[in-house]
Amino acid sequence: MSILLIFENKNVNPWEEALRAKLSETVIEVYPNVKNKEAVEFVICWKPKKNIFDEYPNIKIVQSVGASIEHITNTQTLKEDCIITRIVDKKLSTDMWEFLITIVLSELKNSRTYLRQKEEKAWKQHDYKAIENTNISILGMGSIGGYVAEKFAQIGFNVKGWSTSRKQISNVKSYIGENEFDTFLENSDFLINLLPLTSKTKGILNRNTFQKLPKESFLINVGRGEHLIEEDLINALNASLLSGALLDVFVKEPLPKEHLFWKHSKIQITPHVASLTNVDTAIEQIIENYRRFLKKEKVLNRISLKKGY
Ligand code: NDP
Repeated sequence: MSILLIFENKNVNPWEEALRAKLSETVIEVYPNVKNKEAVEFVICWKPKKNIFDEYPNIKIVQSVGASIEHITNTQTLKEDCIITRIVDKKLSTDMWEFLITIVLSELKNSRTYLRQKEEKAWKQHDYKAIENTNISILGMGSIGGYVAEKFAQIGFNVKGWSTSRKQISNVKSYIGENEFDTFLENSDFLINLLPLTSKTKGILNRNTFQKLPKESFLINVGRGEHLIEEDLINALNASLLSGALLDVFVKEPLPKEHLFWKHSKIQITPHVASLTNVDTAIEQIIENYRRFLKKEKVLNRISLKKGY
């Protein structure tokens, strides 16, 4: 029985070191240098290449090192009884909150405009919207979306959230399902996407959605690149349906140098940094899950393969 680490586009070293330090008795292998493929039962991974799991016939549990799992479910053939777990960490939520409040306040205070004006040596004052007159709409009210919704509401924003089940969060209006989607979008100054990527949410940031928002709303996509129909975003920005967009996640990461987004004046780009997994806290959860797995106990933060998140 062994643990296998499969990491693409992420440095495996700190994870390997932390695991070896804490599980000195356990066989830990790092892809692609695997001595005994049959012994692998517990996989810890980030963005494994397509169908890699096929080489390991005895995988019982797969632990994502991030909040999302679509990088596993979209690329691997998984046995029905395979357990998939993810990271749920307060630090992911607090870091996301800090990221989002930075973007929202900078937009409210016209930072983009003044940066541009400095280039032109232009002295021109612009009105700004007060927090209490600003509406924040959050797609996805899970562990991260629910937390940031509460924080925005606490400092006086008008906040609403969309999810599949009704939420009770102080001063946050809860909307659910497709029937309430259009009403949810009304009066949104900022639309923040914090949905997981599933067959139902893929492409949700599209022309129809943008048309239902009030003119000049601002989009923040910190969910996944595949939530967004890229061409629809460009068209919505060019037609001033949206005032701008901050994109942190992309279909292809790193974003290719020739991509149109780099040159678009209304698009801000961050390299998937809105909230980074903290190795120290995540490792604790992973080790706890490994111990529970050995004892055949219920593991933490298991996702539903049926729901896809
Ligand atoms: P959760 O699984 O805790 O929450 C998901 C939320 O989305 C839930 O509220 C769920 O509703 C809702 N939801 C799912 N499907 C639908 C649907 N079809 N219609 C309406 N609502 C739906 O996820 P997290 O909050 O932990 O993370 C969310 C996402 O944020 C991750 O999947 C990842 O893509 C992204 N992320 C991005 C990071 C970055 O750095 N850019 C960092 C971390 C996460 P319900 O509560 O009713 O089930």
